[in-house]
Amino acid sequence: MMIYNFAAGPAVLPQEVLRKAQKEFLNYANSGMSVMELTHRGKLFSEIITHAEETLRELMNIPDHYKILFLQGGASTQFTMVPLNLALEKKAYYTISGLFGQKAYEEAVKLSKKLDLEPIILSESKGDHFTKIAQFDKCQVDPEAAYVHLTMNNTIEGSSIYELPETNGVPIVGDMSSNILAVKYDINKFGLVYAGAQKNIGPAGVTIVIVREDLLPHQEMLSSMLDYQLLIKNHSLYNTPPTFGIYMAGLVFDWVKSLGGVDEMEKLNREKAVLLYDYLDSTTFYQTPIKNKAERSICNIPFTTSDESLDQLFVKQADESGLKNLKGHRSVGGMRASIYNAFPRDGVVELVRFMKKFEKEH
Ligand code: PMP
Repeated sequence: MMIYNFAAGPAVLPQEVLRKAQKEFLNYANSGMSVMELTHRGKLFSEIITHAEETLRELMNIPDHYKILFLQGGASTQFTMVPLNLALEKKAYYTISGLFGQKAYEEAVKLSKKLDLEPIILSESKGDHFTKIAQFDKCQVDPEAAYVHLTMNNTIEGSSIYELPETNGVPIVGDMSSNILAVKYDINKFGLVYAGAQKNIGPAGVTIVIVREDLLPHQEMLSSMLDYQLLIKNHSLYNTPPTFGIYMAGLVFDWVKSLGGVDEMEKLNREKAVLLYDYLDSTTFYQTPIKNKAERSICNIPFTTSDESLDQLFVKQADESGLKNLKGHRSVGGMRASIYNAFPRDGVVELVRFMKKFEKEH
C-alpha cells in the first residue's frame, strides 16, 4: 500500500533527498565516516554548512547584510531570543492569529516581568477562534518600536499571511516555521525571520534564523547561546551545531533549487491546495474554518465533518488506507492535511478520492 504522510511536522521529506542521504550514509565523500561522525571544526563539515547557507541565500534572495544562523532549540526558543536581542528598552508588537503567535507573545511577557521591554498585542483574532488573520492599521504602530511579530503561516489553524502589512517603518519579525521555502516573500521587508526545519527543510533539530545585522545592539549581558551577535561571529559554530540536520537541510535546498526554486514550489503548492479546497468548497459534508479564501494556508488545510465521532472514524479509516497523520491538532480537533513542499500531488488526489467515498458512505 502506498503511504502518504500528512503530518504537520516532523513531516514528509523528498524521496530523492532521503535516497541521496542513504547513499552517502556510511561513507561521506570518501571520508570513511558518516556525516554524523564528522567533526564540526573540519573541512568537510565546513563545506557542508557553507553550501547550505549559500544555497538558502540564493533560494530566498537574501542580501549580504542579512546573516543566516543554523541553531538548535526549535522555533520556540526564538520566542525568547527575538525579544531578548531586539526589544530591550523598547516596545515589541505582536499580532496574534494562532496558538504559536500567542505563545511567542507570552514568552515576551515573561521576560518583561524582569527586563525592560514592553510587549504589546497589536491585534488578535482569538475572539474569532483564530479563524482569520488579525488586522491592524499602521497608525497604531509606534515607529520607535523594535518590531512587529507576525506568524506567517498558522500551522494549527490553517491561515496564512501573503501580503505583508504596512508597519510604519518598524521591522517585521516573521515566524516562517511552516511556510519557509513554500511561499515566496521579499526578505527585505523583514528584520528577522525564523523557522524550525521540521516541515519544509529537514529533520527536527535545526532552527533557521535570518537577521538583518544592523538591528542587533551590542548586549554584554546576554547568555552566549542566546546572543545572535556571538552566534553570527562564530558562523553558527559557537558550540556543536546539529551537524546531520544541517547536512540534510543542504540536500533539501539543492532539491528545491533543482525544481526551480521557491516560485515553482509555491506554484506546485497552490495547485495541491486548490485540489483539496475546491472539493471542500463544493460539499456541505465537510467544513473548513478559514472562510476568507485569500487567507487560506496552502501548507496546512484543516477540515471537519459536523460530528466528532465521525471525525475520529475518518482519521482511523484514512490511516488504514495509507493516509497517515490526518488528525487535527489537539487544540482544535477534526482533521488537518499538511501538504508541504515535499508532499506529492498524488497524495492530495488520493485524499480527495477517500473523502468523497467517506462522504457517500456516511
Ligand atoms: N511556530 C510555528 C508556526 C509552528 O508551526 C511551530 C511548530 N509546529 C512552532 C512555532 C514551534 O516550533 P518548535 O517545535 O520547533 O519549537
